[in-house]
Formats: sequence, C-alpha cells, structure tokens
Amino acid sequence: MTNVILLGPPGAGKGTQAKTLSERTSLTHVASGDLFRAALREGTELGMLAKSYMDRGELVPNEVVIRMILERIAQPDCGAGVIFDGFPRTREQATALEAAMGEHHNQIDAVLYLRVPRDVLLRRIAGRQTCKTCGATYNIYYFPSHRPGICDACRGKLYQRSDDSIETAEHRLDVYFEQTMPLIEYYQRQELLHEIDGQREISLVTEAMLHALKINPELTAPPKE
Ligand code: ADP
Ligand code: ADP
Ligand code: ZN
Repeated sequence: MTNVILLGPPGAGKGTQAKTLSERTSLTHVASGDLFRAALREGTELGMLAKSYMDRGELVPNEVVIRMILERIAQPDCGAGVIFDGFPRTREQATALEAAMGEHHNQIDAVLYLRVPRDVLLRRIAGRQTCKTCGATYNIYYFPSHRPGICDACRGKLYQRSDDSIETAEHRLDVYFEQTMPLIEYYQRQELLHEIDGQREISLVTEAMLHALKINPELTAPPKE
C-alpha cells in the first residue's frame, strides 16, 4: 500500500496530475475540494457549510475536513493506497492524518510538492474550466476544449468554479502561503518531500512525478481497470 500527498498552491496542477496518476497506478484519487463540491451538488449540510468558506476563499474548518477525509479513506476502494489532492492543508490536518494512518499501521510514503510561480497560478486559475459530467479540466488559455464550453471527452457542459474569480483566487493564494506552505518544511524534515517543477507541460510533470515515486515498487503494479 502506498499513500501519496500532492502538495501545492491552488492552480498548481494537483487535480490534473492526480487524475492521470490514479489512471496509471493502483492508487485512488481523493480530492477534498471535489468532495465538498459533490456534497454541495447533493444539497447536504456539509456541502452548504463548505460553500460558505469556499466562496470566500477561506479554508473549511479543520475538524470538518478531517472527518470527511477519514470517512472517505475508510472506503474499500482506498485499500490499495491513496493520492491526496488538496489535503492536508494545515499542520493540524497533517497531524490528524498521520494519527489515523498510524492506527491502521499505514503511513504517508511520499509528498510531491508542485512548485509554480504566483503569476502563472493566477492565469491558470482564471482560465480553468471543469466538466460538470466527468470532471475533466481544461484551460481557456492553455488547453481549450475543441468546442467552446463542451467537454472533448464526454460532451458534458464546462463550467467555471465560482471561487476561481481573480479576487477570490488572490485570497486563496494568500491563505495557501500562510497556512499550507509550512507543510513543505514539515514534510521535508520527515524526508518525504519531492519538489517537482510544476511549470513545465502537463505530460512532463507527470513523468517527473512517476520518477519521484519509482523508488516504490508497489507503484509499478498494474493499474486497476
Ligand atoms: P489544482 O488542482 O492544483 O488547483 P488544476 O489541476 O485544476 O490545479 O489546474 C489548474 C488549471 O491549470 C487548469 O485549468 C489546468 O488545465 C491547468 N494546468 C494544469 N497543469 C498545467 C500545466 N502543467 N501547464 C499549464 N496549465 C496547466
Ligand atoms: P484548488 O485546488 O484550486 O486550491 P480545491 O478544490 O482543492 O481548490 O479547494 C477549493 C476550496 O475547498 C478551498 O479554497 C477551501 O475552501 C476548500 N478546501 C479544500 N480542501 C480543503 C482542506 N484540506 N482544508 C480546508 N479547506 C479545504
Ligand atoms: Zn466531460
């Protein structure tokens, strides 16, 4: 079993890379933001609560995120290992994850930190478009879909996240620098951190990530269906 954390600011490419990595390995993609957005679509209390923070670009309170993630990784499809995307984002979340994993004789094996400069991040966030149906991600500046507003993969409708406006994105980046950046040093001290240049093109970033993970033989196991 292998567990990997993708660490990096909003717009760094965590979701894009996690999707590909999960297709190319036996690991399951778990994205805290996606779980909140799914909860909101289902109209649950969790979704409504999360939305009030997400819309302002603030972090959802630790205890809420932690509970949701621990429930998610207890599901059977996470048995072969997890790619964490967007979690942990604070020291408290990191500690809670470690404690929960320790209870199951499990651990974090690697943390891949995607480094991208701020001006590039803002452009990526402002241009991000996501498919309502299959979750595929496009970018109006870098990877537009062939037909505007329509997903190439499934013909679903593309939408822009309401928290991807420039003002909210600026604030999310500030929140990242203040609350999440300390995790870089935290995982460095644990000798888990691999720094990846996230500014290169998508496929090269994927290769760099797989290379960083190659030290772990379980990842070379055939991918799931
Ligand atoms: P995150 O999950 O870290 O917020 P995403 O994976 O959603 O980031 O990517 C943010 C935006 O940037 C998306 O529109 C995506 O298509 C685009 N993107 C991702 N990786 C790259 C890359 N290496 N080069 C250019 N654009 C990228
Ligand atoms: P991005 O990858 O572009 O930063 P996410 O989808 O990961 O966006 O997160 C969107 C929003 O969901 C965050 O701005 C925050 O409000 C909330 N969120 C997601 N993950 C966490 C987390 N681990 N802790 C607190 N809030 C979170
Ligand atoms: Zn689609």
